[in-house]
Amino acid sequence: MTGRLHSIETLGALDGPGLRAVVFLQGCPLRCQYCHNPDTWDLAGGTEISAEALVARVCRLRPYFGEHGGVTLSGGEPLAQPQFAAEVLRLCRAQGLHTALDTSGACPGPAAAEVLRHTDLVILDLKATDPEQYRALTGGELSRTWEFVRQVTAAGVALWVRKVIVPGWNDTEADARRLGEALRGLPTLERIELLPYHTLGLSKWDQLGLRSPLADRPAADPEHVARLERCARAASFANS
Ligand code: SF4
Repeated sequence: MTGRLHSIETLGALDGPGLRAVVFLQGCPLRCQYCHNPDTWDLAGGTEISAEALVARVCRLRPYFGEHGGVTLSGGEPLAQPQFAAEVLRLCRAQGLHTALDTSGACPGPAAAEVLRHTDLVILDLKATDPEQYRALTGGELSRTWEFVRQVTAAGVALWVRKVIVPGWNDTEADARRLGEALRGLPTLERIELLPYHTLGLSKWDQLGLRSPLADRPAADPEHVARLERCARAASFANS
């Protein structure tokens, strides 16, 4: 089976436990205003590669993974190619690698369930907890993300939730508390991380002849975002 690959980041330390091969697959149904990788949107872009060849490239990095590392499928949206994603993770698992899926949750359904069968950890990039804000930010429907979250918890897969904090958009303590409360009680939730919006991805929009709707927005202050993260975690994990 073949799929479309954007790139592989060797030895990423941010997308799952330990050191990891981060595999960026091509294609995404969302159009997030703060997207750092608009060059992954086109499902027909990138290069074609077989699942076996891709896993062989990942396995070459195995000596660096140590006890906790492994492979993370990212994108783009890895569930935009669900059969390919499932096959890659299945083969990685067969090699004894820890498997993580970095996803927006925008593609729930039976094909996603098959991917989850081969996934040890889901890193959910939750764009917004309000349906209107989600639609404005991504062009998609928040209800699909919650449907995916239900699939993750039903499958018993560990869940980390991430959210990008954009100044003037979702950067108040009330926003952070709402996020924590929305996630409270999810049985496999292990971690909540808030990420400061940064402007490094804007050059990619320029290269594609696009203008980001957030082009004039400043980067988020990391210290403020760290405070919000504590607030979200307190709202989610308190008394649980
Ligand atoms: S889900 Fe990710 S790749 Fe897709 S538009 Fe949003 S930020 Fe970009």
